[in-house]
Amino acid sequence: MKYNYESTRNKKIKCLASEAVAKGIALDGGLFVRNDMDSLKIDLKDLVGKSYLYMGKKILSLMLDDYTTDEIDELVEKAYDSKFSNDEITPIKKVGDDFVLELFHGPTSAFKDIALSILPHLLKKSLEKNNIKEEILILTATSGDTGKAALEGFKDVPGIKILVIYPNKGVSKIQEKQMRSQEGENTYVYAIGGNFDDAQSQVKKIFTDNDTKEELLKRNVRLSSANSINIGRLVPQMVYYFYSYMKLVSLNEISLGEKINFTVPTGNFGDILAGYYAKLLGLPINKLICASNENNVLCDFLKTGVYDKNRDFYKTISPSMDILISSNLERLLYHISGNDNAYVNSLMKELKENGKYEISENMKKSIGEIFQGGYSTDEETEEEIRKIYEKYSYVLDPHTGVAFNVMEKNREKGCKNVVLATASPYKFSKSVYNSIFKDEETKDVDEFQIMEDLHEKTKVEIPKNLKNLKNKKDIHTGVIDKDKIKDTFKVIL
Ligand SMILES: *Cc1c(COP(=O)(O)O)cnc(C)c1O
Repeated sequence: MKYNYESTRNKKIKCLASEAVAKGIALDGGLFVRNDMDSLKIDLKDLVGKSYLYMGKKILSLMLDDYTTDEIDELVEKAYDSKFSNDEITPIKKVGDDFVLELFHGPTSAFKDIALSILPHLLKKSLEKNNIKEEILILTATSGDTGKAALEGFKDVPGIKILVIYPNKGVSKIQEKQMRSQEGENTYVYAIGGNFDDAQSQVKKIFTDNDTKEELLKRNVRLSSANSINIGRLVPQMVYYFYSYMKLVSLNEISLGEKINFTVPTGNFGDILAGYYAKLLGLPINKLICASNENNVLCDFLKTGVYDKNRDFYKTISPSMDILISSNLERLLYHISGNDNAYVNSLMKELKENGKYEISENMKKSIGEIFQGGYSTDEETEEEIRKIYEKYSYVLDPHTGVAFNVMEKNREKGCKNVVLATASPYKFSKSVYNSIFKDEETKDVDEFQIMEDLHEKTKVEIPKNLKNLKNKKDIHTGVIDKDKIKDTFKVIL
């Protein structure tokens, strides 16, 4: 067995893939990364015409190599079953000359379902493999979608509790209702004052807090994370890059080996990093286009090499991307710098102390060869949603609207485009409705009514889980101060 995962910040902190899944984050605050990515390759020819499950098994076995292939096969089959409303799991649609990769057919209608349908299985198996007997507490900060997808994935899993924290007023009405109505004996949900970055930094603090460590030890509880800082979230997301590419090959839209662009609506840099990992394994990707909303810290970083979070925070119509600290960028820095943990550690120190860092000219150049950035304002996104609906009768959610707009701004002649669609438009019914039917007054109309109206007009089917939501009881209504998370946390223990 190989100890081929290590902390981005310290080469000496090494572990197995399954241990990295169980830990979530390294004790020094670094993120677990595979340290031999250069030596991994996947046989593309073998994937042509294969199913999502086939590709999932291949890729997960390769990346999470201390799970046996039998174990991975079993977990993949458990995760990607009839919970998904589409047999293909992630179908691809042609919209004009471009392609939309629909990632929202899972149980909560967000792309987070893809990873969070399998993470609980990977984690349970890891506990078994590593003979871990403690109770597990999953601690998760959410900008809206992770929370619900994680709650659904972990609900009533024996030996595991889950606590989700979301920014009060920072999520859509539907997202809030999804979380508040969560069932399951082991689920805890709280709103906090502040935004997603506050929630995320509080959660990260708890992971490295000594006080908490003692408390946990005493109670025989172990913390883990369902955020995309967990490598068990990222690896399953690599699969749909391969799947969509192979689908385009099967449809004769591209030839095997032809390079294409992927445009990814980005927040925490997890989804797009999975695309980078797919490229490292040999998927022919020309550019990964990082699409932001007005919180365009990543877009600036890609242009200037300076990451600077000292700026205004905007609440936009794409709330899952209202983020100024993109955690997974740390992983990219590690790989691009040639596994230079000390360098990553120094940058992260600067980020912590000054809210800002600058990378070397060389690094900037290497990143620029693969990544490109762009952003879309709310106004542009609304216009994009309306235009695409009018031209093609296709309904984009606001996050996908951002990506579509950025893709159009970055078109390259002769290069096919795949845009990742990260949420069902019905999760953000009001913004979508107002974008398409601008002249109608919806100010006082209930969000669930708007959902029905949107369906009435566009004829796009409402996902079952969202349709039924209206009649669900609110179970979790607590709001806590962002500095009191630790206390709440003790109560749950
Ligand atoms: C989480 C999320 C994103 C951003 O994904 P990252 O992996 O955090 O970059 C984009 N769109 C939607 C709808 C999301 O829920």
